Amino acid sequence: MKIYLDNNATTRIAPEVLDAMLPFLTERFGNPSSFHSFGSDIMDDIEAAREKVAALLGAHAEEIVFTSGGTESDNMALIGAASINPLKPGLVISRIEHPAVIATAEYLKNRGHPLKISDVNSDGTLNMSSFESCISEQTGIVSIMMANNETGVIIPVKEVARSAHEKGALFHTDAVQAVSKIPVDVRSMGIDMLSISAHKLHGPKGVGALFIRKGIEIPPFMLGGHQEKGMRAGTYNAAGIVGLGVAAELASRHLLEENGRTGLLLDKLESGLLEKCPGAVIACADAARLPNTATVLFRGVESEAVMTLLDMEGVCVSSGSACSTGENSSSYVLSAMGIDALDANTAIRFSLSRYTTGREIDYVLEVLPPIIEKLREISPYAR
Ligand code: PLP
Repeated sequence: MKIYLDNNATTRIAPEVLDAMLPFLTERFGNPSSFHSFGSDIMDDIEAAREKVAALLGAHAEEIVFTSGGTESDNMALIGAASINPLKPGLVISRIEHPAVIATAEYLKNRGHPLKISDVNSDGTLNMSSFESCISEQTGIVSIMMANNETGVIIPVKEVARSAHEKGALFHTDAVQAVSKIPVDVRSMGIDMLSISAHKLHGPKGVGALFIRKGIEIPPFMLGGHQEKGMRAGTYNAAGIVGLGVAAELASRHLLEENGRTGLLLDKLESGLLEKCPGAVIACADAARLPNTATVLFRGVESEAVMTLLDMEGVCVSSGSACSTGENSSSYVLSAMGIDALDANTAIRFSLSRYTTGREIDYVLEVLPPIIEKLREISPYAR
């Protein structure tokens, strides 16, 4: 049995998505920008995908720019917005943003854009008084994620957007983990720009989108051809874009029912672990969280050992974001919440998907408690 509970790192492609993509990798291989019908016919499929992505976000199709994924969307939003108004060069982000936002903000800081970083609370939520103290009349762009990839904590971006707008700043949100798991409506949430990535919602890797509210003019990100109205040059990733469209359509259609089901499985996993693994702590237990994400601290037991033994039992989980795998440092997200390095190094992230089954959760609840018990017996860190 192979059980995949690392869906915040990436998800499997939905069969419907794969079926829709295959013709664009085989007989419909034309270049959508070509004059002849072999390619230009494909433009209709790209526009249909744009409609589907827009529908999932409550946006208009012309407000969607296709990109190579969440990282590019974040780069495009921040670098683009930072160049709009020289009188408002400041940027505000939070300590728990994805590296795609943090590294871009640092890049801009090194080019003269004052950067303020808001604290979070011990439960992983945004510290609103710290956030308010970061924004000023100088702030041109605020970028706060909609949901955190490690803890699953949901940030009330509507409130954040309001504060940003009061200071005349644009509001961008990295919604890569939120979209398809919670309802998103760019209009009622007051969002100016929003990033998504297909591979987090059962679409293919290497494709995503940036929502840019009508009326906001940011400069092109990739220079070259005229694709995406000159905003993002480069031959269309037709298969990927069509795949993202179908993934978005499936997410729109099944959002509430699927996430209700996933939420019940997550509850079952969390309560089972609390019952069977004495001393286990669910991070951010009292905060509003995505229905698919739980980070659990098995205090005194190093997460790397747990992951290795779980993998041997066929269960794949993560100790934080996949991006930090290989780096021998504890999670900056947990550290920002005030969790010390010793405890942070015991964190295991479980992230479920629409394909997770009750049987799989039962299996995890059967194999994991003895692993924790065994490791606790031999751990020099056991508390
Ligand atoms: N933002 C968040 C919150 C993420 O979780 C990820 C992926 O892990 C990204 C951005 C980057 O997306 P992509 O892998 O499509 O570049």
